Amino acid sequence: MTTTSKLAALNAKYAGTGGGDIHDPLFAKVAAGQFTGDKRVWPFAGVATFASAAQRDSSNLAGLDIALIGVPMDLGVTNRAGARLGPRAVRGIERIGPFEHVLRQAPLQEAKVADIGDVPFRSRFDLASCHADIEAHLTGVVDAGVVPLCVGGDHSISYPILRAVGRSRPVGMVHIDAHCDTSGIYEGSKFHHGAPFRQAVLDGVLDPERTIQIGIRGGADYLWEFSTDSGMTVLHAEEAVAMGMAVVAAKAREVVGGWPVYISFDVDSIDPGFAPGTGTPEVGGLAPREVLALLRALSGLDVVGADVVEVAPQYDATTNTAQIAAQVMFTQLCLLATALQRRKR
Ligand code: MN
Ligand code: MN
Repeated sequence: MTTTSKLAALNAKYAGTGGGDIHDPLFAKVAAGQFTGDKRVWPFAGVATFASAAQRDSSNLAGLDIALIGVPMDLGVTNRAGARLGPRAVRGIERIGPFEHVLRQAPLQEAKVADIGDVPFRSRFDLASCHADIEAHLTGVVDAGVVPLCVGGDHSISYPILRAVGRSRPVGMVHIDAHCDTSGIYEGSKFHHGAPFRQAVLDGVLDPERTIQIGIRGGADYLWEFSTDSGMTVLHAEEAVAMGMAVVAAKAREVVGGWPVYISFDVDSIDPGFAPGTGTPEVGGLAPREVLALLRALSGLDVVGADVVEVAPQYDATTNTAQIAAQVMFTQLCLLATALQRRKR
């Protein structure tokens, strides 16, 4: 039972203090970015940006560490369209950050992060030209020494992104998805969202032996022999769940080693019971908390880029799919900030 003297001490310390007057040094530092006096930032006001990061024009990347980039393009889908609306839906989610409670990080305070807007496209009608535009834009970002974190868009966007990120040396990858996306040409196009990682391997920008695919399942599993044939590690959804995320993360660390690694998150890896807002849902998927646990356990890897794809918000009246995507993006941002700090040391 609380004593009178303890109550008096608590009163002396806390009575009448503002919400931003925090004694714990780490929490106080986070609060300093959120409070002016006792006025706290409004999560629902102002122009929506990814994780409420500052806006910056993509022509001015000087001094930037991490660029948050929208890629509103879904010409590569094989089924339901709509992921072109993903970036706006994810930007519209309020209360993402500022703090990651497990990693105890406030990434926007640890690195210079900005939302640099969307990839500029010449034509909304031409998939191949959209891929060329993504590659050109991302090459500019990478050449400026800025780490990209992209929000799509369908999963085909990861191919031109990897061509930019893996141009100087092939990268490894932690790929969380219901689908391996290592299929071949469909109907004359190699650019669709079922094939980005076959193409990236064939182009020499993705190292299959340093790639792990997690959460795989469903009726399209017969399409993915390229994954195992090229040396990727494939963990199906039920295997990953049975292993537990700590063991899955240990396996991922073993596969990618100390190599530069890209993290690609397809929201259809999550069970459609949680995340129905996607074009190719597969029943029997991961839970959001499992994906967050997995990502947190990857902290410390040399992450050189990441994406969140396949959010098609019109199939989810609850907005939970975009909420999950935004939270995953924020956790990826923490991993990117940690990797940057390690590289600077
Ligand atoms: Mn995918
Ligand atoms: Mn998928």
